[in-house]
Amino acid sequence: MPAPWRQLSEHCWLVPGGVNAVVLEHGSRAVIVDSGPDRDSGKRLLRGIRERGWHLETILTTHAHADHFGGHAEILRRADVSVLAPPVEAELMRAPVLEPIYLFHGASPLEELTGRFLQAEPSRVDRVVEAGPIELVGLQLELLALDGHAHRQLALRVDDVLVAADAVFASTVVRRHPLLFAHDVRAQRESAKRVGEDRARLAVPGHGEPDTPNELARATVDAIDAARQALGEVLGRRAARGLTTPEVLRDVSATLSAPSDDIPRWHLNHTTVSAYLAAMRVAGECDVRVEDGELRWWAR
Ligand SMILES: [Zn+2]
Repeated sequence: MPAPWRQLSEHCWLVPGGVNAVVLEHGSRAVIVDSGPDRDSGKRLLRGIRERGWHLETILTTHAHADHFGGHAEILRRADVSVLAPPVEAELMRAPVLEPIYLFHGASPLEELTGRFLQAEPSRVDRVVEAGPIELVGLQLELLALDGHAHRQLALRVDDVLVAADAVFASTVVRRHPLLFAHDVRAQRESAKRVGEDRARLAVPGHGEPDTPNELARATVDAIDAARQALGEVLGRRAARGLTTPEVLRDVSATLSAPSDDIPRWHLNHTTVSAYLAAMRVAGECDVRVEDGELRWWAR
């Protein structure tokens, strides 16, 4: 049984799940923020809105990871709504095979990377939106740019709630997945800190329980810093020979107890480790070169 909806503020409802969705309501007009991973999550959201006598007008997408827009296609088959998304993410939603393709270095992806959590059904995008004020269903809202976990990620402020999606993670989630997926680690850390400084009373993470912005930001920044430290130590231990990216991944997974024990998880963690190594190189903490046919990283 899915958990019941919870009203977080005058206009904002949490629809808890493995991936949190949010519904905004104003004068019986409704907006969905993220639709969960699949047809079922989309169907349930639409049913919940209709059972309350509301009319769904808009779906806002925070970022184009399959588990956040996998329900869009089913909703679009059943309702006449407009879909909003950030730039670049919009392109991934229109061509969702790009997510497994980028996880597989641009090659035609392994079938294990094309399951519903990594490849959603395509979704139309009617309007590309950027950070700034926005009016939806008669509500004056604000979009915030919180890039880093994804290439172009948006959060939404409604009433005194910040719908932060995967810009921050609950501490319970961080304990299970200490290597948080990252596209750009420096931006991800800045975005999490920005959440922590936000004036909102409550923030809703993409996964786990809502909490104060400060608590969610702290758990996220701590996890990023711990991962970066672990990478530095792993590189430092093998300073003479250097390490390939998969070797760094193997050793960091062991240090953080963040197993890369199946094909999808290995590729997600490989991308994240690559994001850390790239950030550390920019910061002058490591070097990279190809030697004997292998890409190797050295601590500086
Ligand atoms: Zn995500």
